[in-house]
Amino acid sequence: MVRVAVIKKEKCNSEKCNWLCFNLCPINRTGKECITKQEDKKPQIDEKLCTGCGICPKRCPFEAISIVNLPEKLEQNPVIRYGYNTFELFSLPIPKHNNVVGILGRNGIGKSTALAILSNQIKPNFGDFKNQISEEKIVHSFAHSELGAYLKGLYNEEIKISYKPQRIELLPKFYKGKVKDLILKVDERNISEKLIKELQLDNVLNRNIDELSGGELQRLAILACLAKKAQFYFIDEPASFLDVTQRIKVARLIKELAKDTSVMVVEHDLATLDYISDELQIVYGVPAVYGIFSQSKSTRRGINEYLDGYLPDDNVRFRDYKIVFSETAFSKDVQKTIEYEYDDFDKEYDEFVLKVSRGKLHKGEVLAIMGANGLGKSTFLKILSGIEETTHGTIEKVKVSYKPQHIVAVDGTVEEFLIKTAGKEYESGWYKQNILEKLNIHTILNNEIKNLSGGELQKVCVAAALSTDAKLIALDEPSAFIDVEDRLKVAEVIKEFTVKKEVATIVVDHDVQFIDYIADSMLVFEGTPGKEGFVLSPLNKRKGMNKVLKILDITYRRDKENNRPRINKPGSQLDEMQREKGEYYYA
Ligand code: SF4
Repeated sequence: MVRVAVIKKEKCNSEKCNWLCFNLCPINRTGKECITKQEDKKPQIDEKLCTGCGICPKRCPFEAISIVNLPEKLEQNPVIRYGYNTFELFSLPIPKHNNVVGILGRNGIGKSTALAILSNQIKPNFGDFKNQISEEKIVHSFAHSELGAYLKGLYNEEIKISYKPQRIELLPKFYKGKVKDLILKVDERNISEKLIKELQLDNVLNRNIDELSGGELQRLAILACLAKKAQFYFIDEPASFLDVTQRIKVARLIKELAKDTSVMVVEHDLATLDYISDELQIVYGVPAVYGIFSQSKSTRRGINEYLDGYLPDDNVRFRDYKIVFSETAFSKDVQKTIEYEYDDFDKEYDEFVLKVSRGKLHKGEVLAIMGANGLGKSTFLKILSGIEETTHGTIEKVKVSYKPQHIVAVDGTVEEFLIKTAGKEYESGWYKQNILEKLNIHTILNNEIKNLSGGELQKVCVAAALSTDAKLIALDEPSAFIDVEDRLKVAEVIKEFTVKKEVATIVVDHDVQFIDYIADSMLVFEGTPGKEGFVLSPLNKRKGMNKVLKILDITYRRDKENNRPRINKPGSQLDEMQREKGEYYYA
């Protein structure tokens, strides 16, 4: 049996535990050196001597150790491993000519590592992290698959690639200056004019890059990637911060690009991934421990197998539960006591005006906000939260716990941050069980916030917002950077918290599946992006969903196997029938 032992060094604190794993290991007790003490005061586990008894992962007080038995077929060297007792990636996805290959998998399972190898940012080492492996040897190791020819072309600089990173918020660190200057620099295909128009970047050309919103940064990063002349394009999470229409526009641009090139896209929004991909490769394993890519599948089959948690061709069950979505506009009976009321108000800027009609928020109810970007949804949240003032009309000031769209990593550990925001609540069993454990934050309490991944940071900020003592909770895009499984958990945690603590929660998000699950009622923003936004009073979920999708001009159908929403092809029989009935979502 081959096993992989991973030690998360940022969690291990041998001075506090007094080398518990080293002292408890039954192999060590026989005099052999299975767990040894290293100079950096962290343990090292010999995977050949380890019997997988399970004592050290269970007893480590900081949950720093994972020991996992690998499937038998993985009796091979990994494609890459960075050091002793670290994550192993066992295979790579294969780009296909004239195709968009979608990649689906959990955070921390090796998707970005694989893209980094395929875009030549890092090189495979086959588990030999002490020596540099020659490019010839790497190419030879992949000679049995299309990857051999691909890597040979890449290393010989015969293949040109273009890459859009996941962390678009880091863009202003690397590129200074005006948007139009960056576009001029990257436009090797002479298509910037078309892309500026399609991606609605006309209004921001004269702005500095560090003044852009999340959605604008995302669209600029996509433009920069698509405007480069390349044979292979790698696009990591293009949907974050984009509204539904922009997601579809980006998907269409990417599909068009793939007519003469190869494109690989990593994405967690299933409806977008489904719409964008010609085929799918799933990456499974154990997050932060090991990852392996499946064979290529048709998109529908791949997504459905992923939701099932079972890959029949590989005979692998990688999750012990299925993910199934509800079919109708189901809404729990919630207590309809009014928690907060606001009167008509507006907010005027030099070039933008937001007009809001009066509305009510109820105890135990989640009010979801949808609408195109640039219509003032975040401004609305900031005004309710007291961060921005109204221009006309006054609103009652109440304590609001607000999670902004842009979340910034602060100094200190996760635990220190949560103790500061939650106060006494942090000690409550309910909080630990229903928020920290459900969001899997209890395993990263000792991690430095600055070292968290985008998805981990998002979950910590949601947990912090839910722990702050307030009548209203306002969450701006809580699903960004979070994988499929965790999106459902985040939605469940927010909903349960709202009901149990009898608060009123407002959520802005663009993932329709997430909104469908979480919303009791909806506010739909209308208007002209960047110029004027207005919003009428809250609607029930069904009416709200139909209204917003009618404005966005998109209909969805349900997959027969698991009810997941799928975007209809415009003009298809279903699309036309649903439009006629006025049922844009709950067909
Ligand atoms: Fe202690 Fe856990 Fe580190 Fe082992 S891995 S030394 S048990 S903190």
